[in-house]
Amino acid sequence: MLAVTGVSRSFGGVYAVRDVSLDVAEGEVCAVIGPNGAGKSTLFNLVTGHLAADHGEIAFLGRRVERLAPHRRARLGMSIVFQGARVFRGMTVRENVMVGMHGRTRSGFVSAALRLPRHRREEREIGREADAALARVGLTEWSGRPADRLPIGQQRALQLARALCARPRLLLLDEPASGLRGHERERLAALVEELRADGLTILLIEHDVGFVTRLADRVVVLDLGQVIAEGPPAEIREDPLVLAAYLGP
Ligand code: ADP
Ligand code: MG
Repeated sequence: MLAVTGVSRSFGGVYAVRDVSLDVAEGEVCAVIGPNGAGKSTLFNLVTGHLAADHGEIAFLGRRVERLAPHRRARLGMSIVFQGARVFRGMTVRENVMVGMHGRTRSGFVSAALRLPRHRREEREIGREADAALARVGLTEWSGRPADRLPIGQQRALQLARALCARPRLLLLDEPASGLRGHERERLAALVEELRADGLTILLIEHDVGFVTRLADRVVVLDLGQVIAEGPPAEIREDPLVLAAYLGP
């Protein structure tokens, strides 16, 4: 589904990502882990199109995408939850999900402003889809509450609901568990497992090896911008190179 080949990106002459290759097969959860500064978010942004690669190729569903803008990659089926993404304040949970979907309606600003029948019909459809996504992530009973009052774990679930509404082929998550503790991490992990069981393909960026162990089919380890190990989670956990990267010099 996704093939990243020999991708590099430098900032001020220093490589953040260097000659990285990575494949994600349909239906799998591929995790990219590594210590802080390893280049995980840079790699993520190269895949989504929010950063341009200096070198290398990125193919998605058999199409070369490395020169496409982020919204065009999104339209092909990439859906993103950014690291540290925030909810919109002053909106309910349901409105937070709906606002992301208005971009794809056809009725446009004028019929929205005039509240024409076509607009009202689309509004109902969007509402139904938002409700389905909220049910999928277990937020139905929260849907009328102000989004910024949700506990942080539920705010992450809300970000997932927003991403699901785009009906992604590939879901890209950058450190979805950061800042979550104990049972919140557990709940998020269970949710990602459910999405995987639904057949969704997921590229999961994560700092913490423990979090990905039960979720990922395959783990790719980055350190100093390069892939230092790749394999099933159980092997990766024992890899001396990986342990050394996490323990530091
Ligand atoms: P990670 O997500 O693994 O913590 P990043 O991809 O954020 O790592 O960063 C990798 C390296 O690239 C770091 O040394 C970071 O300082 C550098 N870097 C990332 N983004 C930029 C940027 N926009 N400008 C300059 N340096 C950057
Ligand atoms: Mg990061």
